[in-house]
Amino acid sequence: MADRFDVVVIGAGPGGFRAAKRCAQRGASTAVIEKEFPGGTCLNWGCIPSKTLLASAHLLMQARKAGDLGVDIPSATPNWPKIQQRREAIIAGLRKGMMGSAKSSKLTYIEGTARVQSPTQIAVDADGKPQTIEAGKIILATGSESIEIPSIPFDGKVVISSREALALPEIPKSMVIVGGGVIGCEMACVYAVMGAKVTIVEALERLIPMEDTWVSRLVEREFKGLGIDVMTGKKVTSVDRNGTGKVNLASGEAIEAEKVLVSVGRRASVDPKLVETLKLEMNGPAIKINSRMETNVPGVYALGDAVGTTYLAHGATAEAEVAAANATGGDEELLDYSMIPRVIFTFPEVASVGLSEEKCKAAGRKTAVGKGFYRANGRSVAHNETGGQIHAVRDTDMNEIVGITLVGEMATEFVTLARTLIGTCEPIRNITFPHPTVSETMEDAVHGALGPILFEQ
Ligand SMILES: Cc1cc2nc3c(=O)[nH]c(=O)nc-3n(C[C@H](O)[C@H](O)[C@H](O)COP(=O)(O)OP(=O)(O)OC[C@H]3O[C@@H](n4cnc5c(N)ncnc54)[C@H](O)[C@@H]3O)c2cc1C
Repeated sequence: MADRFDVVVIGAGPGGFRAAKRCAQRGASTAVIEKEFPGGTCLNWGCIPSKTLLASAHLLMQARKAGDLGVDIPSATPNWPKIQQRREAIIAGLRKGMMGSAKSSKLTYIEGTARVQSPTQIAVDADGKPQTIEAGKIILATGSESIEIPSIPFDGKVVISSREALALPEIPKSMVIVGGGVIGCEMACVYAVMGAKVTIVEALERLIPMEDTWVSRLVEREFKGLGIDVMTGKKVTSVDRNGTGKVNLASGEAIEAEKVLVSVGRRASVDPKLVETLKLEMNGPAIKINSRMETNVPGVYALGDAVGTTYLAHGATAEAEVAAANATGGDEELLDYSMIPRVIFTFPEVASVGLSEEKCKAAGRKTAVGKGFYRANGRSVAHNETGGQIHAVRDTDMNEIVGITLVGEMATEFVTLARTLIGTCEPIRNITFPHPTVSETMEDAVHGALGPILFEQ
């Protein structure tokens, strides 16, 4: 007889695992099926390994600047094998933690590749044995893959994706990064600080093009200080490979590099057979969902990178909360994606939540912008981390803060606080920012944006 579960989740990345855990916590018998490792892209080839490498790079950078703070560190050099061992150990430890958490949540974890046969039946080869699982509801959380440029296919040796870039056996002497988005810029910081000659080639006119222009300019300036060459408005046409790479640009220029990392975005990964079997409605490569995370097939939900909304782990977990609630008899919606913070862990960090000034302008909204400067903040000066700014945007018709963008130390931590300051004046009135803290820069920005209205009512 087939095993039966109230809910079966396919994919144990951050989205699928969170959904499965919540369903189990809400009393549903739940299984999660995973073909590779618990934690998905995020834990194994994404968020965590990249932040582990960035942590080593950050410390190295700090050590090299220690003299500015009156601390002499005669030599600070990377021990790459140790850095890589640490990456592996961190992943292994967190995977173990996830398995423990599955057990304590009474969640059934099945290793194998799931093949959906109908909205209530899934075939899986677990431990080499084929079995069929009956499901009351199905949640699809199959993730995404790196986008490949057809004229520069990945070979895993010279032309690599982020997956290989996180686990290179040696620090390359030189690296060209095709694409100046989130992953490209984070990896540029890692390898530039580790000693590689890094060049970013971006087809658009600026790095990090999803944020406002001032953000790109500030990051580009700081990248220059790290020795990263930034070439914007340039297209890569081909790569000649001969042990290393010669990257040819449409402009006629060419750059020699040991490694060529192509990071031009990610695309939802959904098995075409699944789409055909369920007659799933799609949105390009991604599964189409409504605000309740329902697909067009009753009883089948989808979330995370597979639905192509945020391509962020915490976007996936936010969607997972909604999908899990609805798959277990609840009634929830995710209505405002702009409130899911965007984060980039570069040097300096970048984060934003709500609407930016340029997005407001494009939508024809009238705004007032308040700015806080790290260079004017006592703690930032003491830390020797002065290259940052925070901008808060007020919609002057609504008299509300509608968005906050941060560049600088701790930006990715402060964005959660920023989220709580969006809306009316009430939150900022009730918060006393401790002194001296870097977060006072946020107070300056929000006060600047609210201006006199803060003291009117
Ligand atoms: C280098 C890099 C750095 C990143 N850094 C960040 C960051 O700092 N912050 C952030 O928020 N996001 C970051 N991301 C993005 C983040 O990793 C993803 O948004 C997140 O992992 C999406 O979660 P998910 O659960 O939707 O899918 P995934 O994590 O991709 O998990 C999907 C899982 O489904 C499994 N699967 C697929 N098909 C089947 C099947 N048929 N049967 C069984 N299992 C299946 C896969 O094996 C996979 O484990 C980063 C990504 C990369 C590549």
